Amino acid sequence: MKRHPPEQGGSKPLQADHGPMRRALWATCVYLVVGLAWIEFSDQLAEAWFQDARALSDVQTWKGFLFVAVTGLTLFIVMLRQLSKDRLLLLLQARQRKVMRQHERQLTVLLNNLPGMAFRFKNDALGTFLFISDGCEELTGYSAEELMKAGSLSQSGLIDKASRLEVAKAAAQSIQQGELFSVEFPIACKDGREIWVWARGCGLTDDDGSRLLEGIVLDVSDRKALERELEELATKDSLTGLLNRRELSRVLKEELERAQRYHRSLAVLWIDFDHFKKVNDNYGHAAGDLVLSTASRVLGNSVRGVDSVGRFGGEEFVVVLPEMGQTEALETAERLRQAVRHNPVVLESGDCVSVTISTGVAVYPAHGTNVEELSAEADKAMYRAKMQGRDCVAIAQPAQSIHNEAI
Ligand code: GH3
Ligand code: MG
Ligand code: MG
Repeated sequence: MKRHPPEQGGSKPLQADHGPMRRALWATCVYLVVGLAWIEFSDQLAEAWFQDARALSDVQTWKGFLFVAVTGLTLFIVMLRQLSKDRLLLLLQARQRKVMRQHERQLTVLLNNLPGMAFRFKNDALGTFLFISDGCEELTGYSAEELMKAGSLSQSGLIDKASRLEVAKAAAQSIQQGELFSVEFPIACKDGREIWVWARGCGLTDDDGSRLLEGIVLDVSDRKALERELEELATKDSLTGLLNRRELSRVLKEELERAQRYHRSLAVLWIDFDHFKKVNDNYGHAAGDLVLSTASRVLGNSVRGVDSVGRFGGEEFVVVLPEMGQTEALETAERLRQAVRHNPVVLESGDCVSVTISTGVAVYPAHGTNVEELSAEADKAMYRAKMQGRDCVAIAQPAQSIHNEAI
């Protein structure tokens, strides 16, 4: 695998070393030259020094002994060196095998005890599996053998097409930029459950040039649920489940900016429950809570999908109606009034509590051009509805007439 560039320097490549044949030939040639030179030279020297035939014969015999002794000693030294080297090499190989077995054992223990699963698959269109650790059974319900038998990520049914595309995109980027990839997506377990996982890994290029992906997958469902819960807490009102004041203000600001950008209208309904103190006084605060949450659900269910309903505080609610003019806004406010009025709340005690609402309507741009103006005008209109006897709808006064009144 080519994850790191080959080491520079270090041991010489094998090809560059002298081959065994060359070295053996070289040693034999040296032996032959030295041996022949010795025979020739020693014979001439012996004949020059010893004239007596018997003495010459003895010298020749001793010369032969000496030659055998020297060559024997040389052979002994060479063999000793070579055999020592072989022994060292065998010891080294045995030690390496032991270390490798130890590493393999450690890796297996590590992989099998990972809180999740480790994987390696080809970065082809199917995501062909090459390795899956045993941890996949605990994570997905499928055993490693089952998944390997399925052959690939796309045939395993673990992740849907959309998520697969996202994973493939992250992987392609990781391979291209040589960086780690990290992606979260839902997977379908064997028992039909859906869990969220976090896959982290890197792209590799195998020795044969094929692209691989390897890494780990962890179950992050608990963290995802917590994130969702926190998100809900940050944006939703705990009693009614509608948007809270902060989120509603954000939505109103965003929708108003959109309306300004595209020159569209936008309506705001300011709603306050009538004589709600009496509900608390008559039935208790807990019953009041139930009435409030049930009636606010009626409000939420009576608007379009694009509209936003939020609790501004107490028993005061605000509805944001994008792309809605005065006529439609008044019709919507009237529909909400009737829906609340005609849906009395039945308490645990069996008492049936009917509530009504007073609503003020303000529309952009006729009644205001920013969030503060629109909110103030809708609120004022709501108070006018209260003054007109409650359980009714009042529209804000046009910006021009407000201006005139102020003068
Ligand atoms: P009106 O608006 O028609 O003038 O009369 P009201 O009785 O509704 O008066 P106001 O809006 O000023 O008072 C709101 C009351 O609603 C005060 C409080 O007792 C009650 N209220 C506000 N928030 C809650 C809540 O979360 N739960 C319950 N049970 N009651 C609430
Ligand atoms: Mg009220
Ligand atoms: Mg109030």
